[in-house]
Amino acid sequence: MNMDALVALCKRRGFLFQSSEIYGGINGFWDYGPLGVELKRNIREAWWYDNVTSHNELVVPPGAPSAFQMVGIDSTIIMHPQVWKCSGHYDLFHDYMVDCRETKKRYRYDQVQGRWVEYNGQRIFVTTEAVGDEALADVEHKALRFFNLRSKEADRLVWHSPLVSLTTVEDFSQVLAPDAKTLGTLTPPREFNLMFKTYVGALSGEENVAFLRPETAQGIFVNFKNVLDSTRVKIPFGIAQVGKSFRNEITPRYFTFRSREFEQMEIEFFCRPETSRAWYEYWRQRRFNWYISLGLASERLRLRDHSPDELSHYSCGTADVEYAFPFLAPGDFGELEGIAHRGDFDLRSHMEGKLIRKGNELVVELGPDGQPKYRGSGKDLTYFDEETRERFIPHVIEPSAGADRAALAFLCEAYAEDMVPDEKGVPTKRVVLRLHPRLAPIKVAVFPLVKKDGMPEIAQRIYADLKPHFNCFYDEKGAVGRRYRRQDEIGTPYCITVDSQTLQDDTVTVRDRDSLRQWRIKADDCVEVIRGLIRG
Ligand code: ATP
Repeated sequence: MNMDALVALCKRRGFLFQSSEIYGGINGFWDYGPLGVELKRNIREAWWYDNVTSHNELVVPPGAPSAFQMVGIDSTIIMHPQVWKCSGHYDLFHDYMVDCRETKKRYRYDQVQGRWVEYNGQRIFVTTEAVGDEALADVEHKALRFFNLRSKEADRLVWHSPLVSLTTVEDFSQVLAPDAKTLGTLTPPREFNLMFKTYVGALSGEENVAFLRPETAQGIFVNFKNVLDSTRVKIPFGIAQVGKSFRNEITPRYFTFRSREFEQMEIEFFCRPETSRAWYEYWRQRRFNWYISLGLASERLRLRDHSPDELSHYSCGTADVEYAFPFLAPGDFGELEGIAHRGDFDLRSHMEGKLIRKGNELVVELGPDGQPKYRGSGKDLTYFDEETRERFIPHVIEPSAGADRAALAFLCEAYAEDMVPDEKGVPTKRVVLRLHPRLAPIKVAVFPLVKKDGMPEIAQRIYADLKPHFNCFYDEKGAVGRRYRRQDEIGTPYCITVDSQTLQDDTVTVRDRDSLRQWRIKADDCVEVIRGLIRG
């Protein structure tokens, strides 16, 4: 699929704009236009509806160990700074950055396009970042061929070889002349905390420092007791939240894929420790299926279990839902959502203080004075099970998704160019977004075939009938074929046309975006028919 064409379409038709564009934009920030805002809202609402609103706590869903409850919250973006100290974000939420010595450009270490490879006992970093992306594929290919490596093997050298040590880059020209100019030499990696800092109140001293949340999850953990005390939820249950998160990413890239301000859709699911494995398996599969149900093709989607050395120190299992985004190298996938088994790490941290791993144990990290490095809240975040009369710290399964990445994946999947007959039957190129009807920004467009004979009046009446129920669009300008194309291009699944037959028998034409099938329905049935079609 043609990524440049999709990016151009997003701008042209009002899905996505660069933030502050009139001032030259700001890297890593994106605005959603009139259609983009509807798409993202539909994603959020589909997620909330499927996980919270329509969840029936009286029924055991297929594959679940038992029935369960789901509730939601909406917590603040700025929270008490101690939250981030105990959660580990203050000390640990960093990436490594490297600078290119020649160009002075800065990169996130694990995203530098290139590979560490071994040659004659030396570790060499093969990269073309210094000269831009165009040459990359070619040089990387040559380098890998030279070292007789497939890219996956080179990855393994980078990440899993005990030989990894971040030595200075050797001059690639010695090895692979005449491509010397394609080599950038990189400074050793340095840590960089990704949290945006701000100050609360009028004073900007250290004691007033606060952070914009880098995830919505912590707002759920710190409200665990409030939710328990204010509702009658019983374990197992989940708390859902949708909201903005902020990360000062070193190299935002790939359109909205890695932004500095983005939206997350997170669930913290609390359960008994001995059932947590089964719940983890359940959520992993359920969340994977959600993307398929909304139209992501299973051959471009995968559920990848983290290898033991990728897991966070507290995690007993993590799987990522990944999509083969078209801007990635062939065979590469990008994360849409992580589903993590977090044990009792989060609730314990907020009770006792920041935890670190010692052998098989999680223990409170101590400062130089032998006291907890960061004190927890000291509040009791345990759960008392009335039936078994047991008290325990619940274990947590966390499905954590990004609304912007989901929107991007749905757009990439939906974009297509095909040939369809125009009014004269001549095959013509059409751009179409095959968005799932639940996600489409506009569900139905209404057209009078021509602007006379009372057709506009009838079409406007139908439009008025539809409007309270669906986001719909009225258009009477230009040839009807062009009006269809304009709707195809923004993913409108259905168009209703009032024509001369309408004047005879009060029926209208419905046209399906994907099959191009057209059929007639009663004008008075439009709301019900469209509702049925969208539900599928
Ligand atoms: P990555 O490895 O790509 O940085 P992550 O593993 O740090 O992602 P999580 O902390 O698991 O991401 O966040 C959960 C979800 O939030 C991700 O799966 C993704 O959909 C979304 N997300 C995280 N960082 C960004 C970002 N910078 N821009 C857009 N979405 C993001």
